Amino acid sequence: MLEVEPSSQIEEPPLSRSAEDLKEFVSAGQGRWADLPASQWQDWRWQLQNRITSYEQLEGLAPNLAPEERAGALAASRKLAMSITPYFFNLIDFKDPGCPIRRQVIPRVEETQSAPGELTDPCDEDSHSPVPGLVHGYPDRVLMLVTDRCASYCRYCTRSRLVGRAPTESFESRLDQQIDYISRTPAVRDVLLSGGDPLLLNDQKLESILERLRAIRHVEFLRIGTRVPIFLPQRITKELCAILRRFHPLFISIHSNHPRELTVEARTALERLADAGIPLGNQSVLLRGVNDNPDVMKAHVQKLLMCRVRPYYLYQCDPVHGTAHLRTSVNTGLQIMRSLRGHTTGYAVPAYVIDAPGGGGKVPICEDSVLSWTTDRILIRNYEGRIFEYRQLPSHKPGSHQ
Ligand SMILES: *Cc1c(COP(=O)(O)O)cnc(C)c1O
Repeated sequence: MLEVEPSSQIEEPPLSRSAEDLKEFVSAGQGRWADLPASQWQDWRWQLQNRITSYEQLEGLAPNLAPEERAGALAASRKLAMSITPYFFNLIDFKDPGCPIRRQVIPRVEETQSAPGELTDPCDEDSHSPVPGLVHGYPDRVLMLVTDRCASYCRYCTRSRLVGRAPTESFESRLDQQIDYISRTPAVRDVLLSGGDPLLLNDQKLESILERLRAIRHVEFLRIGTRVPIFLPQRITKELCAILRRFHPLFISIHSNHPRELTVEARTALERLADAGIPLGNQSVLLRGVNDNPDVMKAHVQKLLMCRVRPYYLYQCDPVHGTAHLRTSVNTGLQIMRSLRGHTTGYAVPAYVIDAPGGGGKVPICEDSVLSWTTDRILIRNYEGRIFEYRQLPSHKPGSHQ
């Protein structure tokens, strides 16, 4: 059961939103759960057991739901369930109807509407699955879906067709088939664990999957895609890090969209992972009303570097059913990229990509910096719009030396 505090005890989040404020590391605090013993608040299992999943819970905790949110929360169970960890819920500023945290996790009635071009499986993953729950879309790497659960559910989830609904066969039996496929496919040198969120598995389970993958000689590189450091930083325990560090080279891609997600708690979790020698990347989704703004995005990518996380991809939002209210134009994305490239640290600039509908993989979207091209010279434009000429040698085949 949720322990709901009287509203007089609700901590007032700061209202100002200057770039400097956005970059400040603020603790989520216990907020509405102020009376809970800290040890319980910091226990990731408590956080999972006490997630906000029903309309009634939400209504009891959220002082001023919009009618669109009420209707959205009531309808959510029919499509993508609602689930929000108390920790992440505390980051919502309920005085702000357009709060960027709120927009990511509280359902809205717009989710029940479909727009032209929207799909159930936008990246056509299901048809690139040689065995259930394994996507082999690129020559040398596979995506392995190891669970259908996440700590909280993103309203724009590209796998909303799968998450929160256990497959007919068990994950155990799927895992055997996935490991078997990778073992007999020597082209696979890179395995990306995803889901659902792999870090929701318990330590033993995760360790066993990583051990089985490491036992395959041609598997060189392991990765985990997770939003746990953002939704449930309490899960990043010393014990978990001690397990993960045995499987290097192991990279982790986190998923954060807005600087306010980078709290004291998230930074502590990310530092633990980085200290375990795990290179960290971030994947953001470009979302209307969340991060479709150059100042917000710049503060976010710079704050990620402060957490030792390298911005990796910025995704154009996949056209999954019921997400039109969260999507924005590619032109907006390009404007944001223009505001980053050259204007801030190169390490802070992600690649802006569209995961091609129909299964074409990630396609980088960039503005042409090459203006013209002849055999001996190329005309280029820099980040300020100034034009330069580079004289090049005649082209020849790439070197054949080893
Ligand atoms: C994103 C993705 C990968 C990994 O792609 P990288 O560009 O190497 O990060 C692999 N397989 C599938 C199906 C993917 O969608």
